[in-house]
Amino acid sequence: MTALPLPPGSTLGILGGGQLGRMLALAAARLGLDVAVLERDADSPAGQVSNHTIVGAYDDPAALEKLAAVARVVTFEFENVPAQSVLTLQKLGCEVAPGAEALAVAQDRVAEKQFLNAAGAPTVAFSSADSADEAVAAATAMGAPVLMKTRREGYDGKGQRWIEHAADAADAFEVLGRVPVILEAPADFVRELSVIAARGRDGETAIYPLAENHHEGGVLRRSLAPAEVSAALAEQAEKIARRVLDGLNYVGVIGIELFELKDGRLLVNEIAPRVHNSGHWTQDGCSVDQFEQHVRAVAGWPLGPTEPHARIEMLNLLGDEADQWAKYAHDPDARLHLYGKRQAKPGRKMGHVNRLRRL
Ligand code: AMP
Repeated sequence: MTALPLPPGSTLGILGGGQLGRMLALAAARLGLDVAVLERDADSPAGQVSNHTIVGAYDDPAALEKLAAVARVVTFEFENVPAQSVLTLQKLGCEVAPGAEALAVAQDRVAEKQFLNAAGAPTVAFSSADSADEAVAAATAMGAPVLMKTRREGYDGKGQRWIEHAADAADAFEVLGRVPVILEAPADFVRELSVIAARGRDGETAIYPLAENHHEGGVLRRSLAPAEVSAALAEQAEKIARRVLDGLNYVGVIGIELFELKDGRLLVNEIAPRVHNSGHWTQDGCSVDQFEQHVRAVAGWPLGPTEPHARIEMLNLLGDEADQWAKYAHDPDARLHLYGKRQAKPGRKMGHVNRLRRL
């Protein structure tokens, strides 16, 4: 098997066949790497543009063995990778990046907040509960309103309930499925921002400018980047990013979602140990985008520059909005990115548009 850095001509493995995997695969191809995707669906957005698809579940030992047989370096496009799969791949001789610690932290909202606070990356106050009684006690101690979220497997605003009165915490616990939860104090934010950052195998870091994010129904709708921020705010975000990356001994690209408070402080909402929707602007705003940056990092290549050369408004195309592709194709300032998904369900991320404003 090839040693690191992974030279052109060798194969990168990707767990997950969605749009993030697709854009990682396209970036890898540009660097002369082959890509093998492990995905349950034989016709996936990532599989369509990769050299091989290994069809199987993410925890299927036979599929993992097939992946390890072709790929020395394996990465992923989603955070709920089973810990056992990472161990299996490592035992089979694969370098898996980002590592098991980053995954463990990102898969549990309580472990995540504990890690962040210990690393000096501030978050809202929180407590945890494993029963309805504990939830009421925690909400009483914190003082309502509080936001209850499942500790695991929530995404795009799913698995969360606002609690206006502490006594309602018992009902919320039921509605969320009687699973372990976190209770979060409300973040009184003026804006939601995110920072996309990378760390290489040698500890080198690369940090992109902040993006300003607008959500609708819990789903990212629009990002503006570089966001208009003071030098002090940018510096705060960079400090947070470095603490998170170094604290996890991280390798790859990470997305860090932030709340900007009225008093100018930044709190971390959550971290995504992968390329991130709010970093899609880098495809047309920077010479090395988040996807190439991630491939470079996990493959042991030097990191690339993060300076922007354009201001971008990134717009997600949800459901049948992607039918307007011709309109965007006519617009000289719009760069269209479609994911090859065969079926447009309402709210499904089908593509995005990066609208350019030259700096
Ligand atoms: P999450 O799934 O944790 O990213 O949360 C989805 C969205 O809910 C965030 O983008 C925020 O708009 C909002 N949100 C999450 N946590 C809090 C909080 N503690 N206080 C206020 N709003 C929040």
